Amino acid sequence: MKVLLIDDSPDALAIAKARLRKDDLDVICADNGQSGLVVAGEEKPDLILLDVDMPEMSGFDVCKKLKENADLQMIPVIFLTGSTDIDDKVKGLDLGAVDYVTKPFDAFELRARVRAALRTKRLQDLLVEHARIDPLTGLWNRRALTDRLDQEFAKIRRNGGSVAFVMADIDHFKRVNDAYGHRIGDEIISRVAEALHEQSRQSDLPVRYGGEEFSVLLPDESIESAAALAERCRKDIEEICVGFAGQEVRVTVSFGVSDTNIADSPEALIESADAALYQAKNSGRNCVVSAGAEVERTTG
Ligand code: GH3
Ligand code: MG
Ligand code: MG
Repeated sequence: MKVLLIDDSPDALAIAKARLRKDDLDVICADNGQSGLVVAGEEKPDLILLDVDMPEMSGFDVCKKLKENADLQMIPVIFLTGSTDIDDKVKGLDLGAVDYVTKPFDAFELRARVRAALRTKRLQDLLVEHARIDPLTGLWNRRALTDRLDQEFAKIRRNGGSVAFVMADIDHFKRVNDAYGHRIGDEIISRVAEALHEQSRQSDLPVRYGGEEFSVLLPDESIESAAALAERCRKDIEEICVGFAGQEVRVTVSFGVSDTNIADSPEALIESADAALYQAKNSGRNCVVSAGAEVERTTG
């Protein structure tokens, strides 16, 4: 895990760095508050060790800035304080720090407090990740999609670029549940999710959007790539076969695709892919329809 040390004293940095290296930590340093904030933003460390007493920008000020920043506020902070003053310790903890270590620090105590903070950070990361994963399929959930769409649109506003989007819905799924029960329905949902996951690249975000609806976000891609991905998934899903009481249960999926040339907000992107999906349903299902070309049935 990565630890950021912010301290204006070269000696303090060298000592702390040497001690933490023993625990196999990736240690990065900044010698003032301002550059510490920049490095924190760039490196997203798992823990920040923050000197209280620094010229220009104090550790308390740095901590306040960290806690105001949505991207950085979850990084735990341990204050390094030269003072044994209770007021300073209380102030640091009230600003959101998880702990403090008094200088000159004992090597064993420093390492133990860092380990304790990192244990909690690991659990916190796990919880955050779990809140973004769909338990049935292991795909990302809608919350993860919303966050990622916001990030991608912010990136496009800064640097340009594009995002493509696939919306998918299992055809006549209610009939599957009615005929074979929810357990088989769930099994089908999992297998469809697997197909989407297998066809997605590392940089794509396959999502269980809701019940039997899925989506895939393709950063830096166009509607043509989204349509090609959807078509590969469509074919793979046709091959899925789940056995039930000597019968073969099969499903098909309809797809709508869109991209940021057509839609200029996350909501518009989802809506345009959804409208194309609606067309796919009306064109006989088991097909891929591109937004902006809804009248035309492209595949299937
Ligand atoms: P269409 O082709 O128009 O999409 O028809 P459909 O039957 O798939 O559409 P509809 O939206 O009417 O039905 C969706 C069904 O999906 C109803 C609901 O019971 C089922 N479903 C939603 N979530 C789950 C789930 O987690 N497990 C199972 N087994 N079924 C689910
Ligand atoms: Mg549906
Ligand atoms: Mg459906």
